[in-house]
Amino acid sequence: MEQKSHIAILPCPGMGHLIPLLELAKVFADLHHNFHVTCIIPTIGSPSKAMATVLEALPTSIDHVFLPPVNSEDLHTLHPGFQMSRTITLSLPSLRDVLKSLVATTRLAALVVDPFAIEALEVAKEFGVSPYIFEAVSATVLSLLLHMPKLDETVQGEFRELPEPLKLPGWPIPIQGRDLIEPLQDRKSEWYKLFLSHLKLFRLAEGIMVNTFMDLEERTIKALEVLAGDASPLIFPIGPITQTGSSTNHVDESGCISWLDNQPSGSVLFVSFGSGGTLSFDQLTELALGLELSGQRFIWVVRSPNDGPANAAYVSNQSHQDPLAFLPKGFVERIEGQGLVVPSWAPQPRILSHGSTGGFLTHCGWNSTLESIVSGIPLIAWPLFAEQRMNAVLLTEDLKVALRPKANEKGLIEREEIAKVIKDLMASEEGKKAQNRMKVLKIAAEKALTGDGSSKELCLNWRQSWLLTKAG
Ligand code: UDP
Repeated sequence: MEQKSHIAILPCPGMGHLIPLLELAKVFADLHHNFHVTCIIPTIGSPSKAMATVLEALPTSIDHVFLPPVNSEDLHTLHPGFQMSRTITLSLPSLRDVLKSLVATTRLAALVVDPFAIEALEVAKEFGVSPYIFEAVSATVLSLLLHMPKLDETVQGEFRELPEPLKLPGWPIPIQGRDLIEPLQDRKSEWYKLFLSHLKLFRLAEGIMVNTFMDLEERTIKALEVLAGDASPLIFPIGPITQTGSSTNHVDESGCISWLDNQPSGSVLFVSFGSGGTLSFDQLTELALGLELSGQRFIWVVRSPNDGPANAAYVSNQSHQDPLAFLPKGFVERIEGQGLVVPSWAPQPRILSHGSTGGFLTHCGWNSTLESIVSGIPLIAWPLFAEQRMNAVLLTEDLKVALRPKANEKGLIEREEIAKVIKDLMASEEGKKAQNRMKVLKIAAEKALTGDGSSKELCLNWRQSWLLTKAG
């Protein structure tokens, strides 16, 4: 029997990066595409339970290999973006070994990498393997990334102090400098310099697959295609690629699904800050009391508070102490019947696609955003770090599918404000309008992935042209 064509994918540490690449792997491996996929996983320590669960659930046409854990004493003290990039740099020799063996034993034709693993594109080229990037961000964020080398030359001073909001070609709305992606917030930092140097490597890619779809960001995607005509890599909007409720997390260890089964339709607010977002102790307290005060039903994935940045748990995605111990005294007992608190991790896609769920208070990570769109669930936008502020602006001001609570002058969102925005989403005309708009997006998302939908067509065309030219 003829050997299948082979694709390797390279995520970087962090569940928010692994999950979308594995979902992309499933698209490659499905019946239409019929590739075999090897997921090459760089590691810092031993894999988390959440990681082990998603890897165990993969189909047989996707295998995985762990690279040896990198050993660097200062790694844990670095910014998560730095940690991810440094892990890749230190893993390049072992990546080379794995690619060498795959090239010798399979029909390996492409390496698809996470953008934080951009240095691996050079290794792919060494072996004559087509280098691709998979961007699990919006087209709006991708457009900012691709314009960055030019903006760095032309913009004076800090982006956060720009007198006018930035508007790049195709963007539906201008965005304030302080809401742009996190690495741009301090141009003097080492993180900004590394980030910029990595963006300059994007030109090594043959193409960038971006997890979005035409009906969601049409003008920005079209502007990106024009930019690609000017010698940037080709752009493939192939989304929304998401974990679906039916395909993941079958065991209801947290009890969320059986709890939801007993709640009225559309009545529950799901509260979660992604795979590693954390709040300060004071903010955690306000959120607990705000949820209680709202009187609405909820499921809340609680993580221990941070005493530093909100992304401190991002790479490990584990709370080191019992998160429930930080909740206000008597809270868990008082909310019995109204809410469920789950430590650290819950089966998010299954919760979002459950009929009892009616709203999602989210940190606006792009995977969470797409998962809400495919489930038609309106949002409360509570961005924390990375590109989440840009996503929040798109969701509230352009797409108008999210409400946003206001912080006080100290940056704290108070319990009364939280209760108000929850009631607005779950039980007011404003919330109903956001829900209706989300339902329109849900239908558009389904269309993009079926029949001759924009993303489906593009994926199949890419496979055909690529197989003809590369795999022979
Ligand atoms: N996730 C989950 N359970 C949780 C928290 C997160 O399944 O308790 C999944 C979520 O469904 C999404 C991913 O982790 O697929 C988080 O990605 P996102 O881009 O939203 O945020 P990030 O974790 O990168 O900040």
